[in-house]
Amino acid sequence: MTGFVDKPEPVQVPGLVHVHTGKVRDLYRNEAGDLVVVASDRLSAYDWVLPTEIPDKGRVLTQLSLWWFDQLADLVPNHVIAGEPPPGAPAEWEGRTMICRSLRMVPVECVARGYLTGSGLAEYEASRTVCGLALPEGLVDGSELPAPIFTPATKAEVGEHDENVPYEEVARRVGADTAAELRQLTLAVYSRGRDIARERGIILADTKFEFGHETADDGEERLLLADEVLTPDSSRFWPADQWEPGRPQPSFDKQIVRDWLTSPASGWDRHGEQPPPELPAEVVERTRARYIEAYEMLTGVRWS
Ligand code: ATP
Ligand code: MG
Repeated sequence: MTGFVDKPEPVQVPGLVHVHTGKVRDLYRNEAGDLVVVASDRLSAYDWVLPTEIPDKGRVLTQLSLWWFDQLADLVPNHVIAGEPPPGAPAEWEGRTMICRSLRMVPVECVARGYLTGSGLAEYEASRTVCGLALPEGLVDGSELPAPIFTPATKAEVGEHDENVPYEEVARRVGADTAAELRQLTLAVYSRGRDIARERGIILADTKFEFGHETADDGEERLLLADEVLTPDSSRFWPADQWEPGRPQPSFDKQIVRDWLTSPASGWDRHGEQPPPELPAEVVERTRARYIEAYEMLTGVRWS
């Protein structure tokens, strides 16, 4: 299984070489050796990249990431060189493209959780732990944790699930110093993001960061925050005014799409062999509106 219902063809742009097609982003290298990262309107759910795009989704992800990189710049350096497409790029890349330092990515998905839900909840109910970390009794779906926790995972190929790994395993794979730095940065950035989002009516339940190394001019290895940051694709955002622990929380992400795909209306079996169907226009429009609402609430800027 490839994971893509239709794998997109890279675009030909003079001076750029296509290097990777991710689930959402297309990566190119420019003549300076930097990465040109283009966020498409693709959406993945249940380990598939769906055949239907959500108009403007890639622009929302890129603009929101750029906004967050600024908010976080005093805590951690990041990979952004420019928030604009390179000269000669197609008009379609406007708003969705960043030029980034090409980093050696650390092969760890750096997850921070401040609230209990999802796979964390399932483990908690079985063992009163999340990723092996002991938690108090009495927590329910949506409860705030006593303090945020670092629950790293290994990155999966398209179509596979990320796998939670103990901190000790991260230390074994990337070294004790890098592991400690990842944990410290992940928790610091999460906490900053949580506080900013909370002031704007959004609960940042959990999120995933990716970091990469570059060798600085003095020969020192530097860890930079890379990829996308604190977007609805990389995070669980809950409307704070509807937060009610003890039930699944409404959220600002692909929930509309997941709900439709698993409803009888879609006619699709997510455990079967068939790829998912096209989304109805109404599901596309509601999903688009949800991404834009998250952008507007967080940044305070009207989407245009
Ligand atoms: P995959 O690429 O494995 O399908 P994904 O679906 O999450 O994962 P996208 O978000 O679509 O990927 O694409 C972004 C890709 O670019 C990721 O593989 C990410 O690790 C990588 N990446 C992000 N920032 C950088 C950077 N500064 N240097 C090198 N690679 C980066
Ligand atoms: Mg990604």
